[in-house]
Amino acid sequence: MANIIIEFDKDACIGCGSCNAVCPDNWVMDESGSEVKAKPIKTKLSEVGCNSDAADTCPVDAIKVIG
Ligand code: SF4
Repeated sequence: MANIIIEFDKDACIGCGSCNAVCPDNWVMDESGSEVKAKPIKTKLSEVGCNSDAADTCPVDAIKVIG
């Protein structure tokens, strides 16, 4: 059951890559736009996994784990 929700504030993201470094299972870097931004692979998960590390490491609090 997907009871963990990942909220991502793309506007706040400064593209530092820290989330991808600590949690490559769910965070990739999207270089397709004019600015590099992070991108979650999934936003509904059954287990938090490394997403809590991604949220903790983000310098601009763009990642929130709910649930
Ligand atoms: S850690 Fe935060 S600011 Fe850095 S790329 Fe990830 S979401 Fe963006």
